[in-house]
Amino acid sequence: MIQAPKGTYDVLPPDAARRELLLGHAARILGAAGYERIETPAFEATELFARGVGEATDIVQKEMYSFDDGGGRSLTLRPEGTAPVCRAYIEHGMHKLPPPVKLWYLSSFFRAENPQKGRYRQFWQVGAEVIGADGPETDAELIVLLAELLEAMGVKGTRLRLASLGTPETRVEYRQELTAYLRAHESELSEEVRARIDLNPMRAFDASDAGTRRVMEAAPKLLERLAPDDAEHFATVRALLDAAGVAYELDPTLVRGLDYYTRTLFEFTSDALGAQSGVGGGGRYDRLIEQLGGQRTAGIGWAAGLERILLAAPEQPVMSRVVDLLVVGGDRDSRPVALAAFEVAREARRAGLAAQLELTGRSLKSALKHADRLGARYVAIVHDGEHASLKDMESGEQKELTTAAVIPEVLRGSRLT
Ligand code: ATP
Ligand code: MG
Repeated sequence: MIQAPKGTYDVLPPDAARRELLLGHAARILGAAGYERIETPAFEATELFARGVGEATDIVQKEMYSFDDGGGRSLTLRPEGTAPVCRAYIEHGMHKLPPPVKLWYLSSFFRAENPQKGRYRQFWQVGAEVIGADGPETDAELIVLLAELLEAMGVKGTRLRLASLGTPETRVEYRQELTAYLRAHESELSEEVRARIDLNPMRAFDASDAGTRRVMEAAPKLLERLAPDDAEHFATVRALLDAAGVAYELDPTLVRGLDYYTRTLFEFTSDALGAQSGVGGGGRYDRLIEQLGGQRTAGIGWAAGLERILLAAPEQPVMSRVVDLLVVGGDRDSRPVALAAFEVAREARRAGLAAQLELTGRSLKSALKHADRLGARYVAIVHDGEHASLKDMESGEQKELTTAAVIPEVLRGSRLT
């Protein structure tokens, strides 16, 4: 038996209905705020991610599916959506559009990861990007929209962590300061943290041993080192979120796996998820478009994992399908009967009814059983181009009528119920 590759999954019809629900909420919530849908290719030039996500990130270092296109060029299955959207923005000269350009997507992404619950090699993200607006209202609005989407889906136990990264220059200075601080307290740190001081000093904030934790309480925080206009921007974002009633925790240690972020950074987690608790997050990327060869343009966006939203949301009762009419050919060996039945089903759908044609050549008896299973309101048994019987599956009544009268009769009946 050939199976789906490790880390991938099939979307079977019951799951498809829940995904439709998410798609509907995203289209409604983002559409009302003026965001328009965008779709980019499933693969891109590898260089786009190397430059756009950052050579040093986990994604680029070890999670990309890259391949040769046969002509010596390296392509990569997209691991994230922001770099491709910015590439499209530049390629299509969207800077000529009245700013800001507000876009959203629901697409699949690919990362070579260890598959677990909530972590796959092909997964879906709903994402939103605003390009060409640098004010703090943009940041707050985007965060509020994601909060609304998660709420509409009924995602349980959400928490929002918020930080500001300032500029890359501030970060370089801060990193030097933190490294020097850690060196000065080296003897109190755990072995592990000590070994990583130069490689990744920020990791020290995540350490669990008492010694390191004591040192980190008094450590300098990036949030306290922001340049005045970055600090002002962040204070306004916070005031807007407070006013909107969106709760958040300040997390000076928040780091995300993409290199291009500046200023606001945020992540929603859900307590309803296990180890893979990240539901969605994003941040500002005011340097990214320039880094990809465009003019310097402000940008901010988020992406949320579809699978994790569905894992953290309650199973909602999915509306059962309505079947108004099942059309059965009374004589399966007769071509005129087949033509007449086919025509009744087609005309019924054109008249707005949910109408199915019996396709398997079941006996009349088992076709009626099948109609019950489908929950069909009526069954039409077509005898020829002129004559049919119509059975009301609720009352059990059956009447003889002309083929042409079937649809008006069903329309009348289904309007009554
Ligand atoms: P994680 O810390 O879980 O690896 P991440 O920081 O790599 O997440 P992002 O790149 O910010 O995640 O992607 C945004 C969202 O996409 C995540 O919050 C998560 O919901 C989802 N996501 C990321 N990677 C996967 C994956 N391999 N499978 C399923 N969902 C994923
Ligand atoms: Mg990851």
